[in-house]
Amino acid sequence: MQKGKLLVFSAPSGSGKTTIVRHLLAQPELNLEFSVSCTTRALRGEEVNGKDYYFISIEEFKKHIKAEDFVEWEEVYRDNFYGTLKSEVERIWAMGKNVIFDIDVAGGLRIKKKFPEETLAVFVKPPSVDELKRRLKERSTESDDKINMRIAKAHVELATAPQFDKIIKNYDLDEAKKEAYQLVKEFISISE
Ligand code: 5GP
Repeated sequence: MQKGKLLVFSAPSGSGKTTIVRHLLAQPELNLEFSVSCTTRALRGEEVNGKDYYFISIEEFKKHIKAEDFVEWEEVYRDNFYGTLKSEVERIWAMGKNVIFDIDVAGGLRIKKKFPEETLAVFVKPPSVDELKRRLKERSTESDDKINMRIAKAHVELATAPQFDKIIKNYDLDEAKKEAYQLVKEFISISE
């Protein structure tokens, strides 16, 4: 199969990586397609099954693990499993497109390890953990308990930033979007 590129965007929850990924997906010249992950967490707000995630049960998720259907998977939060299906990458490459991932830090590094040549792994860094907390509260899609769980994990995740190919500091969203665009454009054109 003709291989495209893999653009991984990882960051603590609330860093703005999803906004950056959406911005990149809206640039047709980058020829990107979003890798839809499987998750066992509940559907949130305006999310659509099959577009934001494939929302599946823990039993189904475990079947996929056993069948080795995943490129990578993680229990990102307790009982909340997330994973990238091999079929998702194949589907997008078969379309002649590059794959963009919005996944957690461990998953991002695993993709990089599996596909070192094809992957650009980008870490999106929030201004501070306090700011992260403020953004998560503002989003108000989760309970305080869940927010605290995400904050606790953020400390661990921030420590992995140096293992990524590039770090984008998201202090100003417009700047961060521009920087992300340049990085992706360069990576794609070098390898064309
Ligand atoms: P959320 O519940 O906020 O949508 O996602 C929680 C975390 O799981 C985010 O950091 C998100 O990027 C990550 N995530 C989403 N899909 C995957 C996946 O397929 N694999 C891994 N390892 N993490 C994922």
